[in-house]
Amino acid sequence: MANSTTGSIGLRTLEDITSLILQSHDLSQTLQNIVDLVAKRMKTEVCSIYLLDRDQAKLRLSATVGLAAESVGKVALGLDEGLVGLAAKERRVISIEEPQSHPSFRYFAETGEELYHSFLGIPLFDRKFPIGVIAIQTLDRRIFSAAEISILQTIAFQISSIVTNARLLDSIQQRDTLPQVTLDLTSNNSEGNEPETEELHPILRGKVAYPGVASGPAHLLDERLGFTDILEEEGVIIDLELAELHDAIEKTRIQTLFLEKRVAERLTADDAAIFHTHLMILEDHSFTDKLESEIKAGHSAPYALKKVVSGYLEAFDRMDDPYLRERAADMDDIGRRLLANLIGRDDQTLHLKTPGILVAKEILPSDMASLDHEQIQGIITESGEQNSHAVIMAKSLGIPALVGVRGAIKLLEPEQPVILDANSGTFYIRPTDTICEEYRRLEEDCNRELSKLDELRDVPARTRDGERIKLRANIGLVSDVAVALRNGAEGVGLYRTEFPYMARGDFPDREDQYQLYRKVIEGFSGEPVTIRTLDIGGDKALPYFAPPKEDNPFMGWRSVRVSLDNVDIFRTQIEAILMASQHGPVKLLFPMISSLEEVNACQAIVEQAKQNLREEGIGFAESIPFGVMIEVPAAIHIARQLARKVDFFALGTNDLVQYLLAADRNNPLVNKYYDPLHPAVIRVLHDLAQIAAETETDVCLCGEMGSDPLNLLVLIGLGIREFSMPAPFIPRTKVFLKDLDSRLAKDAAQAVLQMGETAAIRSYLIEQLERLEGL
Ligand code: PEP
Ligand code: MG
Repeated sequence: MANSTTGSIGLRTLEDITSLILQSHDLSQTLQNIVDLVAKRMKTEVCSIYLLDRDQAKLRLSATVGLAAESVGKVALGLDEGLVGLAAKERRVISIEEPQSHPSFRYFAETGEELYHSFLGIPLFDRKFPIGVIAIQTLDRRIFSAAEISILQTIAFQISSIVTNARLLDSIQQRDTLPQVTLDLTSNNSEGNEPETEELHPILRGKVAYPGVASGPAHLLDERLGFTDILEEEGVIIDLELAELHDAIEKTRIQTLFLEKRVAERLTADDAAIFHTHLMILEDHSFTDKLESEIKAGHSAPYALKKVVSGYLEAFDRMDDPYLRERAADMDDIGRRLLANLIGRDDQTLHLKTPGILVAKEILPSDMASLDHEQIQGIITESGEQNSHAVIMAKSLGIPALVGVRGAIKLLEPEQPVILDANSGTFYIRPTDTICEEYRRLEEDCNRELSKLDELRDVPARTRDGERIKLRANIGLVSDVAVALRNGAEGVGLYRTEFPYMARGDFPDREDQYQLYRKVIEGFSGEPVTIRTLDIGGDKALPYFAPPKEDNPFMGWRSVRVSLDNVDIFRTQIEAILMASQHGPVKLLFPMISSLEEVNACQAIVEQAKQNLREEGIGFAESIPFGVMIEVPAAIHIARQLARKVDFFALGTNDLVQYLLAADRNNPLVNKYYDPLHPAVIRVLHDLAQIAAETETDVCLCGEMGSDPLNLLVLIGLGIREFSMPAPFIPRTKVFLKDLDSRLAKDAAQAVLQMGETAAIRSYLIEQLERLEGL
């Protein structure tokens, strides 16, 4: 098998090991999970891990599947004993048939290993030093192929660092210096567990939103810490406080103008427009009046600010409305910057001066729009779900991210060193030198892996049997263009235009939108860019456009429904897209379509927009492909009729899955119901692929599910040949496709279509994947 196969198994296994570790609470359980997984993956009867004791004298059996469970912890070999000892001592791979006949064979009655007829042992290293051995054994006589050895080496290499970390965790835990709660994934009671001294190095866990490793200073996005320190003062001089408040407001106003300019230079004017809102707040009389009256009531300016800002935040919080949450974030931001100016710590802006790890309670899309992406090396959020839009954006920027890391902010001071391991789901605060050293090495390994993927950038994606697959990028901001190009995207399959709208203080005019779309289109020099019209509502709010309070926003006034009820705004956007179509191939995409009437209405508006441009003498491409998102179940049932009216379908599986399975994509309580491998989802995708083929309608799947190899196996098997995904997933998807035979994928899809249970589908696909990968 090619090396790339080994690489893809490595990645997959690492992902699996990651999730195993997230379920584990101690080293022995972690190791046991690893051997179970490897034995299953390698289809061997035995897999064991031996670890060197602390005195380096004995290799102790630490986990096994296949050997007697009671011998774990008891059987120990010297480095001169047995084949396992040989692998560690000589630091090399030992692969032999009939191990009993080897002079180094050592028999342990308690393990029952005389039954086994082949042996493969690979040393585990911590840097240059052996820390143990992973060994597999089979009942059959088996000559392990070079590919199998290389696969186990990849696995050994990857688990070595995990073993090292797990041991570190374990020893820290044993020394009882780690607050117990920080390893408990389910509890939220971090209170009372703050470090008492500088020597403590808390380790927190979270859910992996985007994999990778990063280290650096923590940039705290949540500065409410600052307000906690502001206490009521006695005997304030009111005039002095008022003067200081006005100074601080003026300083903040000037800084805001400066920030606007800076973000406009680094990103776009649209991205910078959020600061208009901030200026409006600073100039809002009801806000400044409230501050003044608090001071006049005898409070210091910082305390008055604390009271007023927390009053607003609490009120916003209680309302739990997406629009108001956006306002709360603005208020929070302004409050923090005003406070920094009041107390003379005006370097505390969120606008990052140095590269580092962003640590926040929550990151809203508008935060992402205004932050300097170049400086963000990783993201930690205390809350946030894996399907939230902020996380989708982190993915599209290719930034390692962990969500649900509870208690992180309380344990941190700004700029303290942290390490984010979004492979194992671990966040290290003020890590020890040993952990730093370990991660320096791991980071180097990751970078090496990435540069390997880099080589694939300009290679078109094909399956092993030569089927051409188009891999396009999902983008949201202009800065995504560079990320997409770096990852070899063939144009854009989904441009979510709502993100630039979110980053502004009001609706962008036609010229602004045109300039923005033009920039994106020109960035792709000839590759198509699919521009989706505004898709707000649900979990995406515009700070200046309040939707009505709805009990059920995902079923409510969102997406194309909002556009069709605001024809002027809608037509303006379409005109801007049409104008931009002079600069390169554009496709026009309409979200959340549930009826032919909506398609007719959208088409009529496109015609009006064209007519307006003609009258104004503005050029545009006459034949722009017209497509619809298939993401509402109704659209599936009218797909044939839709196909007669449109040029392409974009399969929006993020929403399609939530609507089909009645499971909110952002609600952790129903996460287990939200599964793209549910038989109903697969059946629907099959039908859609079939209808598209029969009606010769182009199809591109642009939901998140397309970036997971397990799902891809079915999707390729169902005949889908075009995908749009967060750009950093493109190179590894190419690696996966290179080893996938589309005919085998078709057989797998056919088999899965006969199954009625999600779990059965998943295990069948895992098995197929293993087989395809040559195990
Ligand atoms: C989808 O629903 O699958 C999709 C791609 O759109 P969004 O995630 O923006 O709703
Ligand atoms: Mg959608």
